[in-house]
Amino acid sequence: MESDKLRVASTRAELSTALTSRSATAATVALVPTMGALHDGHAALFDEARRRTEFVVASIFVNPLQFAPTEDLARYPRTLADDLALCAQHGVDLVFAPVVEEMYPGGEPEVTVEPGPVGAILEGATRPGHFRGVLTVVAKLLNLVRADVAVFGEKDYQQLVLIRRMVHDLSLPVEIVGAPTVRHSDGLALSSRNRYLSPEQRVAALALSRALRAGRAAGPTGSVGVLIAAGDVLAAQGIDVDYLALRSTDLTTDASAADATTGEARLLVAARIGATRLIDNVAVTVGSGVELPAMS
Ligand code: AMP
Repeated sequence: MESDKLRVASTRAELSTALTSRSATAATVALVPTMGALHDGHAALFDEARRRTEFVVASIFVNPLQFAPTEDLARYPRTLADDLALCAQHGVDLVFAPVVEEMYPGGEPEVTVEPGPVGAILEGATRPGHFRGVLTVVAKLLNLVRADVAVFGEKDYQQLVLIRRMVHDLSLPVEIVGAPTVRHSDGLALSSRNRYLSPEQRVAALALSRALRAGRAAGPTGSVGVLIAAGDVLAAQGIDVDYLALRSTDLTTDASAADATTGEARLLVAARIGATRLIDNVAVTVGSGVELPAMS
């Protein structure tokens, strides 16, 4: 998969030139938006994009619009040389790595994309304005790259749901593809923020994926059982939980309100391990919680 043809554009003009001059056989374009500090989770998205299209664009942009003033914008890891090497290894054709002024000439945009009610819960409740920033930059990137396909990770499940919703509600001409979360062999979801963790904190962080596995395993017992099983794991580890929630797969409804909820749902968790905030989620099939009489 080694690529000897990786191009890098840092301005919109360079991006436009690179897109125009791509090979005539590269009819469709896929975009994988990232904030850099790339790891194998991002690489899986590049591979998925490569499987679907002839021309893969990765964007690397730490978007100030989605960070609150108190968050980690200034110290967010920036590792461009390593990022470019990973992109080349995974067959990315073009990297778009603009500076802030290139994306937001004239400062913060006045017109932005409002995420609606699903943007106000879970991550949105803790991080007001976060999804407005995410959707606004993704809409801009989709337009600049003129992407036919865009690939996002289920790791940021709420983000994926909101991007699908934006594309639907605004009739954007792009196909959104979700890719499964890539994990370390011990279960921890790969994240650019894992590098903030001390060795002890990394061990503590395993409680998140363990809790999600316990919740998923308790699916047949019903939604209350799922939340108890997952919550018990987090409590036993003394984890500082921001939220643990069981929602419908489109996130519009609380799937734990009644134990009668059955079917596919999503179990989501956010927690602070020291100063680092981590998120994770998993699909859960929720049973009725009611023991059926044995068939005679
Ligand atoms: P980020 O650079 O953190 O903004 O993430 C860029 C894209 O990579 C998003 O679509 C994320 O959901 C995705 N991503 C991040 N971590 C993982 C992972 N462990 N597995 C799969 N996708 C991921």
